[in-house]
Amino acid sequence: MPRINFQVEKTRNKLYHLKMEQRNIKRKYFLHLRAYVHSWLLEIVGIFFRALSLFSTLTTTPKQNKTRVNALLIVDVQNDFITGSLSLRDCPSKHEGEEVVPVINHLLSTIKFDVIAYTQDWHPGTHISFYECLPLRKHLIAPNSPVTEANAKVFDQIRFSGDIEQILWPAHCVQHTRGADLHEELYIIDSKTPENHMNKNTPIIRLQKGTDAEIDSYSAFWDNQKISKTTLDADLKKHHVTDVYVAGIATDVCVYSTALHSCELQYRTYVIEDACRGVDETAIKSKLQELQSHSCQIINSSKVKCLIEGTRAEQQELNNNDIN
Ligand SMILES: [Zn+2]
Repeated sequence: MPRINFQVEKTRNKLYHLKMEQRNIKRKYFLHLRAYVHSWLLEIVGIFFRALSLFSTLTTTPKQNKTRVNALLIVDVQNDFITGSLSLRDCPSKHEGEEVVPVINHLLSTIKFDVIAYTQDWHPGTHISFYECLPLRKHLIAPNSPVTEANAKVFDQIRFSGDIEQILWPAHCVQHTRGADLHEELYIIDSKTPENHMNKNTPIIRLQKGTDAEIDSYSAFWDNQKISKTTLDADLKKHHVTDVYVAGIATDVCVYSTALHSCELQYRTYVIEDACRGVDETAIKSKLQELQSHSCQIINSSKVKCLIEGTRAEQQELNNNDIN
């Protein structure tokens, strides 16, 4: 009997060990499986957060840019300033006004603006700025004017009563004449613009200024005496414009005045220097410096795309570096 009992005990022990071994194997298998699943879960969570971060970058970048509403103001790219009676090539700068056209066209075809405005000097035939019309206003010449009817020459600055300083320009941009037309190669966004053009559906403003015979209007926002305001500011505000990019003719006259008033009206203002041509090099330099003192930025056209479409970091880098 003791022998049998010993055998039973031995078998029982063996079974117990086998059972324990089996349990250990199961446990090891379970631990391996758990570690495997755990590492996969970590990987999936990592992928999820990386995707979330990418999604957030993709969605926040346009949102940052959307806080800016960008308008391109194309100032007075008209025949008379290019090849006509007041062409820049006959002015001290000897600039070729036509050179602004491909630069502006390139901007229009590569950058989506929120608003585009084309302005035109649009004078009646008896406009106060015309040298030829001085005899009509000889009775208005101020007694203390350094220039008189007798000695006045084209480009002189005369003083009319009421402290009105006026440069006597050759007659130019008379309403409904070819000289007042925009240059024929300047791209005009209109109903004929192809559907696939990036600015096809951009709101367009057309503004004619200097229409009052008795007061000149260099700026697209105000006349020279700041008596009457044009509709431009209201139109830009209607579209919630925050940033104004100015290009066109002439840097030291209408571009300068328009950019200055744009700064005064609290638009973030940029003059695209290579998309502008002016009357006099010295005046161009001093007017651009003056604009900079009003927080206007003078930039090259190659920077506009980044300023409008770049990320905030890229825009910041442009602002930190020499933006020009
Ligand atoms: Zn004019």
